[in-house]
Amino acid sequence: MSQRTGANLVLGIESTAHTFSASVVRERGSNTGEILSDVRSVYESPLGTGIHPREASRHHVEHAPRILRDALIEAGVRIQDLTALAFSAGPGLGPCLRVGAVVARTLAKHFVKPLVPVNHAIGHIELGSLLTGVEDPLVLLVSGGHTLTSVFDSGRWRIFGETLDITVGQLVDQFGREAGFGSPCGPIVERLAEKSSAYVPLPYTVKGNDLSLSGILTAAKRLLHNNGKLEDLASSIQETCFAMLAEIVERGLAFSGKSEVLLAGGVAANRRLQDTVGEMCGARGARLATVPSKYTGDCGSQIAWTGLLAHRAGIDVSIDDSAISQSWRIDQVDAKWRS
Ligand code: AMP
Ligand code: MG
Repeated sequence: MSQRTGANLVLGIESTAHTFSASVVRERGSNTGEILSDVRSVYESPLGTGIHPREASRHHVEHAPRILRDALIEAGVRIQDLTALAFSAGPGLGPCLRVGAVVARTLAKHFVKPLVPVNHAIGHIELGSLLTGVEDPLVLLVSGGHTLTSVFDSGRWRIFGETLDITVGQLVDQFGREAGFGSPCGPIVERLAEKSSAYVPLPYTVKGNDLSLSGILTAAKRLLHNNGKLEDLASSIQETCFAMLAEIVERGLAFSGKSEVLLAGGVAANRRLQDTVGEMCGARGARLATVPSKYTGDCGSQIAWTGLLAHRAGIDVSIDDSAISQSWRIDQVDAKWRS
């Protein structure tokens, strides 16, 4: 179908951490696109433990054939119909990234298709922009791997502020695991917080445009082992951390003069975070755009859509140049499709 209409049709493969996912996205006009499929399998770590990179990569190897097949069937396309193959090239866990990269390289070579490396974090931002219609936002990206504010300037997504230690996802996951739950713990912490009756003071650490979250984790863990009430600690972690995030977003808005805020990444599904940042945006006359919860976490669509944008801008690579990068900052990417 894509060949008849001439529209770009891209398969995206996501494999940076816990999720192996494949998605097909089709271009619609010059500015928008349509998600034809998004199929996922998530590695689940044993209770009380985090992601083991080798075990997660085994999960990805095991599930890749089924996920790919289902993504193509759901989209109603054949590999031959695709315009390009995109994969998450970083940042992420090496063994996990390698699985997606090897699958993408193999398919690209066999079916003679262009290969497009995608920065996973930019994938969250570009998919969020597609789904919410924001044009020039200040982004708050909060996930397992990132906690940062960013604006697009002079060809790149520039980092305005970021965590100086752990991410919000790591904070809620590590606290939840300490309490005996299995990762990802964000939704569990959110539900616990709804039953809280009291606020417990925790370290509030904003340093200019940046913030530090590890003090909250240390204090909350200590209180948990000293008869602290789980629900109150869950709520206090959220209240402290989300107030800090709202503060750095507010500072970013004041500095950049932007009128839209895009909340992206897995933690963006949290209703309390949406309300806290939303209230601040309301007071400043800015629009808060929240990504539909189905697409806040890691998924193939973020890679397929950003891959489509990158392919259109001529960012294809040869197999020899398709190395993965475990630490690849968003401000290292020339986002030519936006320039
Ligand atoms: P990502 O890396 O983008 O897939 O995001 C995964 C992270 O989002 C994990 O650390 C989850 O615990 C976290 N997360 C998912 N849903 C929620 C939620 N409702 N509240 C807080 N954190 C969440
Ligand atoms: Mg992510």
